[in-house]
Amino acid sequence: PTTIADELGIALGNLADAATGTVTPTLRLGVTGLSRAGKTIFITALIHNLLTGARLPGFAPMAEGRLIGARLAEHPDNATPRFAYENHLAALMGTPPVWPESTRRISQLRLTLRYQSASWIKSQFGTSTLNLDIVDYPGEWLLDLPLLTKSYAQWSEEALSLANRPARAQEAKPFLDALGSFDPAREADDAAAETLATAFTAYLRASKGDARALSTLPPGRFLMPGDLEGSPALTFAPLPAPAATPRHSSLYAMLERRYEAYKSVVVRPFFRDHFARLDRQIVLVDALRALNAGPEAVADLETALTSVLSCFRQGSSNPISRLFTRKIDRILFAATKADLLHHTSHARLETILNRLVANASRRAKFHGAETRSLAIAAIRATHEGSVKHGGETLPTIIGTPENGQRLGETTYDGKTEIALFPGDLPENPDSLFKSVDSTPELNFLRFLPPKTLSPSQTGDPVFPHIRLDRALDFLIGDKMA
Ligand code: GDP
Repeated sequence: PTTIADELGIALGNLADAATGTVTPTLRLGVTGLSRAGKTIFITALIHNLLTGARLPGFAPMAEGRLIGARLAEHPDNATPRFAYENHLAALMGTPPVWPESTRRISQLRLTLRYQSASWIKSQFGTSTLNLDIVDYPGEWLLDLPLLTKSYAQWSEEALSLANRPARAQEAKPFLDALGSFDPAREADDAAAETLATAFTAYLRASKGDARALSTLPPGRFLMPGDLEGSPALTFAPLPAPAATPRHSSLYAMLERRYEAYKSVVVRPFFRDHFARLDRQIVLVDALRALNAGPEAVADLETALTSVLSCFRQGSSNPISRLFTRKIDRILFAATKADLLHHTSHARLETILNRLVANASRRAKFHGAETRSLAIAAIRATHEGSVKHGGETLPTIIGTPENGQRLGETTYDGKTEIALFPGDLPENPDSLFKSVDSTPELNFLRFLPPKTLSPSQTGDPVFPHIRLDRALDFLIGDKMA
């Protein structure tokens, strides 16, 4: 790993502020989570709240009146796409408002924050500045770290043994059939590679579909290709090892070269240029969607999170991960979309979140990083109420379900506001992880974004949220002390 360490040395170099020639402190905040966990919404809401001077009482620099202002800074990195903040905001502020497009690839945006330091000495030098670089990337990409220490033969063996498990029979069959029709020792050709890669990708995606979410498996880009869709580095699949050493011109050797190319062109640059440079990390988790789908999906989310979070663990069997995570000193786990529950259930949602990440944190500490768990809603789409039902008062949430959503016999039209009692989260989360009689009935619907926004101090409309300010305080508050 010495060469990787050397490469890292370059990547970790300070970024000078070109305009003033001085070095403005920069904090790189990674925002990740599996697909549809809420990354895009979190980042858009965070930026909007800071730019409009929204009231954020849980964010110390603001509560103490020390935050002077925030502005979007010039995009610092020519090689990374800019987070499409303006487009996402336009979708959310449209008439009618709609949820924006979700994260599909890495992107980044820089905010410059001006504040008055709380320290008397620091404040004597005038106001302070902090660059906040927000880096949005698919959690699926983190699944790839273990590949860096695996050969093509090792990875193939593991991937094929998983595909042959009875639980995956249905999803894997088309791929295994395709595999059966190619001899790995035959002459290589692109059409064969494409056929196999397409079938393998379809199998990975099917395994992860909403209906029967099985564990999320690497390669991560097969699930979230970003800009690489269709490129040769993504056109490979596992093959059984041939009995004799494969010829250079064989199909096996060709796919082995592509696997190695995937590691060197795709995986390593991502970890080296982006992941290794993060200072802080928030991991967003959509626990409610899994709860809706039942115990199998919850157990599976736990497995997927354990693989994803292994990237942040110290002393894991993978020596490379230690190199890549030496900077991150705070990790926030956030259960998103807490507005789909009445606030009386938020503490239980946090308990479930802790249970989901417990496996990952029990096996090893997160690199000595400080961790915290919070239930949040970056944009609150509901408000609260209560209904009387059989002499009982049930806490409800009120909002407009998205068009076409169904609950029992009812299909919603996307126009009608309803009050919903989503069910009670259990006190002990264990019943959610396996099918037992006491597994509670829960109903979470997707709601449209809020239509009426309240004004900030400056009169700008701002999105309602739940604990976004506390998340922000944990992630960056101490750097503005
Ligand atoms: P990602 O970028 O793939 O991680 O996910 P998004 O940020 O695009 O969120 C996916 C979907 O989840 C959105 O389209 C919304 O429907 C929903 N969502 C995200 N954040 C919230 C939230 O705070 N409250 C509610 N009610 N829904 C949310």
